[in-house]
Amino acid sequence: MQVEHQLRCTGCGRVIAQEALKEDFRCPECSHLYEVEYPAWSASSAADTSASKRNLPNPSALRWLWKERRTSLELKDQSGIWRFRDLLPILKDEANIVTLREGNTPLYELPRAARSIGVERVYAKHQGMNPTGSFKDAGMTTALSVAHERGFSWVACASTGNTSAAMAAYAARAGMRSLVLIPEGKIAWGKLSQSLDYGALTCQLRTDFDGCVRVLAEVVRRAPVFLLNSVNPYRVEGQKTPAFEIAESLDWQLPDHLIVPGGNLANCSALGKGFLEMKLLGLTDRVPRISVIQAEGANPLYRSMQENGGKELTPVEADTRASAIRIGNPASWRKAVRILEATGGWVEQVNEAEIALAKAEIGAEGIGCEPASAVTLAGLKKLVAQGHVQPSESVVLLLTGHTLKDSDYTIRYHRGDLLTEEEIAPLRPEIESTRRNTVELDADVDQVLRALEKAVQP
Ligand SMILES: *Cc1c(COP(=O)(O)O)cnc(C)c1O
Ligand SMILES: [Zn+2]
Repeated sequence: MQVEHQLRCTGCGRVIAQEALKEDFRCPECSHLYEVEYPAWSASSAADTSASKRNLPNPSALRWLWKERRTSLELKDQSGIWRFRDLLPILKDEANIVTLREGNTPLYELPRAARSIGVERVYAKHQGMNPTGSFKDAGMTTALSVAHERGFSWVACASTGNTSAAMAAYAARAGMRSLVLIPEGKIAWGKLSQSLDYGALTCQLRTDFDGCVRVLAEVVRRAPVFLLNSVNPYRVEGQKTPAFEIAESLDWQLPDHLIVPGGNLANCSALGKGFLEMKLLGLTDRVPRISVIQAEGANPLYRSMQENGGKELTPVEADTRASAIRIGNPASWRKAVRILEATGGWVEQVNEAEIALAKAEIGAEGIGCEPASAVTLAGLKKLVAQGHVQPSESVVLLLTGHTLKDSDYTIRYHRGDLLTEEEIAPLRPEIESTRRNTVELDADVDQVLRALEKAVQP
């Protein structure tokens, strides 16, 4: 099956051919972002005649094929992104695929969280279990493969850390060079070290993430580099595939609700696109609600929904310790609003102590995640308290990054100097019961036994 794709502007609706895409990926008419579209699918679903229906892939054949590929020895089949390539036909030649065998990430049950929150089933889809430790790999394999196919030798991104780690790794795999712009002093060390390790040209700019984005927009206009920020519509195509994996892991019984952290808001848009396309193609008969959770200090979408129902968005000066979502002017906010509307999801905000506590609770399930991912559990508690999530529902939390991405944060939480007294106050008992600081002792058996005794006592 050879399906052509085109690009539709999410602002004015104008459709362009792939070759007409500008280097900043924005519409020259209205400056909004594009979305990849497969006219063969939507045309046939609109008409719905039996003749045109034959253009659509057969759902049960697809399900069988995707499962079958998991046992194949071919690289493109072993990738949890490209094994769904029938639904992301963006390359002219599959030989251009650049893969690190990303995807196929685990869906864990969180029984303790479910019990304590009072919801039937809570799952964590752990996108931190990707090759570079974050969900960014899912979109990087697709967008970088497009750059490779189009003959670019340089790629670039502005990043809060994880995008640059993913980009640098995939560029290195493909034998390409990468340029990283990161805000000075505001990203986690683990992430910075990855981009150096994979050989990127890494520039720390004296500004924030939003400032890095502004500089890069000009750089890509003046130099032949392929932009790999999430404004790139080909990243979204890879990032939609965890929706297919979630459905597949639950034997095509969708969860009622999916909860996603909100930074630049591309992930929520991508997952929404994945679920909507599955429904369009008859793989599923409904879509889950998709809700977005932001940190209080970086909450432009939350404010926009409260103040004007998502019609306008006013950028904010972002500040949160969850550095992956420290974004004040999210590029994909219009796409995200459309997904919220299409799926009936909610937007909530959570504070620094709520994030830190939720992260410790996810850790205590033996799973762990980076701070930005933990907003999902903190947000779920709020959505349940507000009655937006019912006790009978099943919920999937999208964990975006690995716990080792920001071990500094974790150590400071347990040592007790992450949060201020004022931040801790409303949650003191919960926070104290999850803190596990190291115990310093002499090399003495009795001292260790005493520590053990103390820990056994209730
Ligand atoms: C990038 C990132 C986010 C934010 O995703 P958006 O698509 O920008 O909303 C959240 N968590 C982690 C760990 C990330 O790396
Ligand atoms: Zn437009």
